[in-house]
Amino acid sequence: MSLSTEELHRLDKEYYLPTFKRYPLAFKKGKGSRLWDMEGNEYIDALAGIAVNNVGHAHPKVVKAIQDQAENLIHISNFYLSEPQMVLAKKLADLSGLKRVFFGNSGAEAAEGAIKIARKYASKNGRGGTIISMKNAFHGRTMATIAATGKKAMMNGFDPIPEGFCHVPFNDINLVKEKINQDTAAIMLEPIQGEGGIIPAEKDFLKELRNFCDEKGIALVFDEVQCGIGRTGKMFAFEHYGVKPDIMTLAKGLGGGFPIGAVLASEKVGGAIDWGDHGTTFGGNPLACAAALATLEAIEEENLMDAATENGQWFREKIMKATVDYPEIEGVRGEGLMLGVVLSVDSKPIVATMMKHKVLANATAENVIRIVPPLNISRDDLQVVFDVLLQSIKENRK
Ligand SMILES: *Cc1c(COP(=O)(O)O)cnc(C)c1O
Repeated sequence: MSLSTEELHRLDKEYYLPTFKRYPLAFKKGKGSRLWDMEGNEYIDALAGIAVNNVGHAHPKVVKAIQDQAENLIHISNFYLSEPQMVLAKKLADLSGLKRVFFGNSGAEAAEGAIKIARKYASKNGRGGTIISMKNAFHGRTMATIAATGKKAMMNGFDPIPEGFCHVPFNDINLVKEKINQDTAAIMLEPIQGEGGIIPAEKDFLKELRNFCDEKGIALVFDEVQCGIGRTGKMFAFEHYGVKPDIMTLAKGLGGGFPIGAVLASEKVGGAIDWGDHGTTFGGNPLACAAALATLEAIEEENLMDAATENGQWFREKIMKATVDYPEIEGVRGEGLMLGVVLSVDSKPIVATMMKHKVLANATAENVIRIVPPLNISRDDLQVVFDVLLQSIKENRK
């Protein structure tokens, strides 16, 4: 197999659903925070497959775990047990304090699971099934998760949209309280909004939400698909807030690049699920779980959460100093290595220029540059990301 980038793009145009706007790039190899395209050009990856490759590309521990597991057992169905699934379930329960786990294959699937658990819990407690989520959120692309996301552009043409979702402004506790009634099953939110432009929840907001949910018997659901798994300098973003959810979703970083999602629930809320209430064929198969276990171990053994904290702090300070000479930079948001550089100009052309300089980043929310590199990116590589970002801002000046 040795197709050129152009040939790949021709095949894409002819055979793939035209849903993605692809960059004129195709990759064939990765190692750590570096990627190589079909022609052998080297890139620094500050996107990490959209906050997925938290331990970098081709991490030896993850590669070995996948190889060893694949040789023994890839899939058996959830009619039977396997060691990787149970060890991973216990590990995530111990790490999060949420004692019930269910594995799926993606973030959207995890969110679907969270919605089902929350609704079942509510129905057992005489409440309705409405899920309140935040404006500017992102929870996935399935029918229920586009309804939970609530973004018009994502729902257009897909009517009828599932009912039972409503949206409130992020970080406004009073408007949340106004919306809540006997119909409310759960409040679902990202502790740090990702696709929405790296916007952290305010501490008081989450604390008050927690108190309010406890008072009313409503489940609090954290979508940590993007901000979880060490990304923000802690295993889960909720640890920054000292606010524990009843239900939490994970995916992106969990498998070190291998697809796996998880929904976790407290004993109390998860206990609402009965035999036959939910299921999956692939979810939690031994191969995916082995990859996830190796990923979590690598994050712990290599102190990648500390690395994320230190490198994130270093990068933020540099950005803040640069605002003097770069009036386009309005600030930087986020935690650890989940960062959004907020601009006063369109971020898309700047990301395109960065790509020409062989640095991959992402433009989100119109004017934000999302920096979510592998947590083990070196200081030198991060310096290049920083230099190229500034250079690209400069090159886009009119
Ligand atoms: C990416 C993302 C999802 C959806 O995950 P998929 O694996 O693409 O289905 C859900 N929630 C958040 C916060 C995400 O960032």
